[in-house]
Amino acid sequence: MIFRTTTTSRTRPALRRVRTTTALRPLHHRLDPAAVEEIPFRASDGVRLGLTRVDSGETDRPAVLLLHGHTASADMFLLPETRNLVDVLLDDGYEPWLLDWRGSCRLPYNETGQKYTYDDVALYDIPEAVAHIRGRIGDRPLFVVAHCIGSLTLSLSMTAGLVPGLAGVVSQGVFLTPKLAGRTSLRMSVAGELLKTRIDHIPVDFRNVGLWSKYTPLFALASRKASCPDPTCQILHNSAWGTGASLFVHEHLSRTTHNRLAELLGPAPLWILPHLRRIELARSVVRWHDTDHRYRALPPNALDAAARIDTPVLLLAGSENGLWLDSQKLCHEVLAHRQPQLDVEYTQIPGYGHLDTFLGRGAALDVFGHILEFLGERR
Ligand SMILES: [Zn+2]
Repeated sequence: MIFRTTTTSRTRPALRRVRTTTALRPLHHRLDPAAVEEIPFRASDGVRLGLTRVDSGETDRPAVLLLHGHTASADMFLLPETRNLVDVLLDDGYEPWLLDWRGSCRLPYNETGQKYTYDDVALYDIPEAVAHIRGRIGDRPLFVVAHCIGSLTLSLSMTAGLVPGLAGVVSQGVFLTPKLAGRTSLRMSVAGELLKTRIDHIPVDFRNVGLWSKYTPLFALASRKASCPDPTCQILHNSAWGTGASLFVHEHLSRTTHNRLAELLGPAPLWILPHLRRIELARSVVRWHDTDHRYRALPPNALDAAARIDTPVLLLAGSENGLWLDSQKLCHEVLAHRQPQLDVEYTQIPGYGHLDTFLGRGAALDVFGHILEFLGERR
């Protein structure tokens, strides 16, 4: 019997910790639980999403929909350890809504289940969430504040005319003219090569990966010249999931936020890279599906369709954005030249990187005031 046991353990494949349920991971917040309404929400292609309304107790407030970045989640706007964007919006008389679109780390799709492209987010997730919110708020104004890929995909929905009549949009990091660091774009083609190997996503939580695994070289690469000993921080701060970019200015994160990074940002799926690569090469948000008729509603090139934008836009970016560089400044210049009739502003946040514009311990002082000012002028 002893020998049989030994044989069994030798032949059994190593178990990988993957999520097999579409149940949403609980939100992490310090709001009154009675004020947090989690709405069962499924996109029309069958994918389960997360939609959350924060009840202020008043029914006449303008609504603000918050869109997270890829692999982040609604949690990025609810950090209990700082004065977060939801706190600030509630205090200023708004009703916050949070969408966990299919790239959220509260959902399993980045690791398991149905693969997707950003076309699906632009065609299904964002317009359908907006329609649902409109059904609830009636003719009250609806704003959107969007970060990173949440903003990039929103630009595709907007230029498709799928979310008309928004009261205003705040876009952080990137909008219609994505421009990645040269190093990042090179590494993206390297990562494309990884696709042909057994690797299908880049994890961030070293504790789940273990010391010796197929991911070890990625973590080793990220640790080069790192000043912080935390491997999860290294792969995000020094390497942005192996791309070589930097996601935040390190000293802007509180100790608590720093230690929660593996909860705030999930694994990055490598199968999304061909679409991201096409976008990056075009320097514009472009549709992935050229022949599938379901995606015909989306413009082939969002920048070329920018005349369809019917709402004021505030482009925000940290001066030290290590992922999208000065994409927002470029977007402002290009739109001012090509679509001078649009109401588009650009505000640079001195000293800030990318994610710290929302996760930073000082974001309420340094960043959120610009958002409130923009919303306040248009509510
Ligand atoms: Zn660190």
